[in-house]
Amino acid sequence: IEQDIFRDIKHDFPILGDVIYLDNAATSCSPEPVVQALVEFEHQYRSNVGRGVHRLTRIATQRYWHAHEKVSKFIGGTAGITVFTKNTTEAINMVAYGLSWSPGDRIVTTILEHHSNFLPWKALEKLGVIVEVIGITPDFMLDMEAFRNALVTPVKLVAITHASNVLGTLLPVEEIADICRKCGTLLLVDGAQGAPHIPVDVAKIGCDFYCFSGHKMLGPTGTGVLWMRDPILKPMMMGGGMVESVTEKDITVLEGYEQYEAGTPNISGGIALGIAIDYLRKIGMEKIHDHESTLTTHLISILKTLDRITVFAPPLPENRIGVVSFTVEGMHPHEMAQQLDEHDILVRSGLHCCHPLMYALGLPNGTVRVSLGIYTTIDDIDLFIATLKEIIAK
Ligand code: PMP
Repeated sequence: IEQDIFRDIKHDFPILGDVIYLDNAATSCSPEPVVQALVEFEHQYRSNVGRGVHRLTRIATQRYWHAHEKVSKFIGGTAGITVFTKNTTEAINMVAYGLSWSPGDRIVTTILEHHSNFLPWKALEKLGVIVEVIGITPDFMLDMEAFRNALVTPVKLVAITHASNVLGTLLPVEEIADICRKCGTLLLVDGAQGAPHIPVDVAKIGCDFYCFSGHKMLGPTGTGVLWMRDPILKPMMMGGGMVESVTEKDITVLEGYEQYEAGTPNISGGIALGIAIDYLRKIGMEKIHDHESTLTTHLISILKTLDRITVFAPPLPENRIGVVSFTVEGMHPHEMAQQLDEHDILVRSGLHCCHPLMYALGLPNGTVRVSLGIYTTIDDIDLFIATLKEIIAK
């Protein structure tokens, strides 16, 4: 692993001069080229997109469109439609609202889901839709036997996370997609913790929808993506920018992503997300994954040797991403996070928007969660461990 690349890129993230940021599963930091793209939009060509012909709108429209192209390529999704949203949550809700549901339709999801990939499906129960939740095994993996059994009777949609934002568990999305295809079931993958950390190829996975957050992968806040294989969704919003023509009687909706992006979008955010993608591609997602995986294995192996610490993680490195949850006996997770903050180390604590999982694990106070990013170094991990030990010893 070329650790030097990752040590050097810290200079592109001025915010990291003051803190050790280990809360990347919540949101990541943006490198200077992304920040500069936002500034450049404001200073040089701020204007609307897809409307009018003046010089500024031509630049903005071209760059905004090109950002969609970059994102599609990044996830191997050029054959489908790539829609910009404000986050993963909006992308998933667009699927929930955009499909047609009938009483008795079944949705299969998992106990690992973030509320964003759980509540939109639960909301459909009022229409008579049945939501089934698959559990996990004692080693924090998805219970595939229960999953296969759930698909013996017809299921309209499977909605699963690519990776858990609490346990770091990577789900076997290709195997799940195979099962879904054989059953004629649609598959939505919540890629909020996938796209930022591992190479993603939606064509290879074989899913129908892939949703993720630009702000968790070096892009600006307020950016997210919904990729869909075919434009089978009814648009969640109607308005300007999404129609070819409108008369009092008839509406002709545009083809392509525009039909799902009514109203003025987050133009600078979308363009800057394209720059974040350039940044990630330049390093390479394989390298990023290897780097984060090496550090995660190092972190888990040390945590497991510490007294009073319980780690909740799948045993094998190939089944996890750089998200590690643990508890400290006799100490509330918020208390630990607070004390780490006093040492300039920023981690997440609590229930991580995954209440059903936390209650299933018997952890009503939640966990302390360390989540790595591309700029995390072995020195960061070692300093975190040393500080943790010091706090526990006190
Ligand atoms: N799904 C997962 C797995 C997540 O980790 C998150 C963010 N923590 C979300 C969905 C929601 O992302 P956003 O807040 O960007 O909508």
